Amino acid sequence: MRYHSSRGQAPAIDFSDALLGGLAPDGGLYLPESWPVLANAAPGSYAELAAAVMAPFVAPVIDQADFTAMVADAYSMFSHPDVCPLVELESGHHLLELFHGPTLAFKDIALQLVGRLFDHELDRRNERVTIVGATSGDTGSAAMEAVRDSDRVDIVILFPAGRTSEVQRRQMTTLGSPNVHAAAVDGTFDDCQDLVKAMFADEDFRARSRLSAVNSINWARVMAQIVYYVWAAQQLGRRDTPTTFCVPTGNFGNVFAGHVARNMGLPVERLIVASNTNDILTRLIESAEMVAEDVVPTLSPSMDIQISSNLERLLFELLDGNGPATAELIAGFREHGRVALTPAQHERLVAEFVGERLSDTETLEVMADVHATSGMVIDPHTAVGIGAARRLRRPDEIVVTLSTAHPAKFPTAVEQATGIRPELPAHLADLFDRDEVVTPLPNDLAAVEDFVDSVRRA
Ligand SMILES: *Cc1c(COP(=O)(O)O)cnc(C)c1O
Repeated sequence: MRYHSSRGQAPAIDFSDALLGGLAPDGGLYLPESWPVLANAAPGSYAELAAAVMAPFVAPVIDQADFTAMVADAYSMFSHPDVCPLVELESGHHLLELFHGPTLAFKDIALQLVGRLFDHELDRRNERVTIVGATSGDTGSAAMEAVRDSDRVDIVILFPAGRTSEVQRRQMTTLGSPNVHAAAVDGTFDDCQDLVKAMFADEDFRARSRLSAVNSINWARVMAQIVYYVWAAQQLGRRDTPTTFCVPTGNFGNVFAGHVARNMGLPVERLIVASNTNDILTRLIESAEMVAEDVVPTLSPSMDIQISSNLERLLFELLDGNGPATAELIAGFREHGRVALTPAQHERLVAEFVGERLSDTETLEVMADVHATSGMVIDPHTAVGIGAARRLRRPDEIVVTLSTAHPAKFPTAVEQATGIRPELPAHLADLFDRDEVVTPLPNDLAAVEDFVDSVRRA
């Protein structure tokens, strides 16, 4: 399998280069040149399905037996035997629990594997890298946890100071691994993401620090997320009948993986893009226009995003794989904060995607109602998904809502809605007693680059 850039101005490369490179040199995102077709449903564990679904994407660079072993090892870190268990919330509406990994959010599913792939490939090449990333909360700790104590990787994670939950922050600042560094930036998540992009655009800096990324632009993350869509359909006996998936969405990585599963032949009825007040995607689906607004902090901070970087991968498809046209569209959006799809492009978008938004008040209502009617305690991101699915579900439609975080990650919102303060699982029970190490940084490229230079070993 070869990978090309969504902007069409970079050479095609293999999986290992896309893995380590993150962003393409022309600023685009890597995509496989073709979509492999899913094999028929077969019984087996999550890890077995995962190895089978992903195999065509990593061949021929990653040895099949090595890959199967990495996949098995990654998913052995999960506390539930099903890895991603499916539970019925109400008739026709299921929750796919994606939060049983080490840091309690769905990011672990991709990053536990990506960490192992990095070590494997860097060992083979006898190289080191410096990973830089931006997080609105959950990616950071999941990435840090995935590479902690690696001899080949240093990681610096930028997060918006004061805008993550205390649990999220402590998960990033208390790892105590010498290769893991947390920086609190005086700005928003989009500022952090822009700083990361600017570091990659600084050729000299990029080369001297051997920069790499594991945030949601990394193709390998999308790849690992395809699996649980197939898994859910298989658990429901629906590998041949269409299912609707509802996805609490921020950077569009998760729901894009659902779209890829569909491209690979999974019957998907529609994909519901559920957003909080930061609803740029829902507005795009409703109006064909993407208009940037300021980021508003909400109870679901991992979705407090206005510029969804993975959307570029879908735009590239809507523009029939025309890289320069995609680059122009993105540049137009960057410059004017607004772009419009053509009627034909918009028609293709709405044939598959539908959007819905929930305010914080509505999110709290869903959390309270789910608790009252089912006894289940859910996190605010999952609540946005459930609320959206309940509004849009047609009478005989089967919907799987992706449950993206453990409620204990957002205890304040959960307590506000239900009166219950959810407990952290045993492996994180002493989180509030651990010492924090964090470096405050201004929203300034030079200052951030100086910090990275000061801590990296590569
Ligand atoms: C990251 C995250 C999301 C958003 O996922 P995207 O892939 O960025 O769209 C939703 N919920 C939780 C809990 C997350 O951590």
